[in-house]
Amino acid sequence: MPPLKINHVAIVVEDVNAALSFWRDALGLPLHHLEHNESEAVDIAFLPVGEGEIELIAPFTEDSGVAKYLAKKGAGLHHICLEVENIEEAIARITAGGGEMINAEARTRSDGTRYAFVHPKSTGGVLLELYEVKP
Ligand code: ZN
Repeated sequence: MPPLKINHVAIVVEDVNAALSFWRDALGLPLHHLEHNESEAVDIAFLPVGEGEIELIAPFTEDSGVAKYLAKKGAGLHHICLEVENIEEAIARITAGGGEMINAEARTRSDGTRYAFVHPKSTGGVLLELYEVKP
């Protein structure tokens, strides 16, 4: 079963409020909510568009994975997330096809969404996230 749809596109920024002046105010996307995520040390703005979402992510510490990414590469596209029906099947298919996973095993978010990342060297340079959304 191929992926179902684009769930979200994540963009790393220095400052979520500054980024909202474009994405919300100038472009006109609605701001669904803001999340202060302690476990990953990031602020996230969720802006729905169609069936998907733009996520603006800004680190609030110096030592998180996202903070290191921002320091090294600067602001920009961080990852694309595709929704799949069955994440184990998707991981097995990618691995069998020669793709390299960052997370060989899916992890689970607090809302029940299961996720795993595919290494950018397998995708043409873009970090790819897979989501299996809890029905
Ligand atoms: Zn994501």
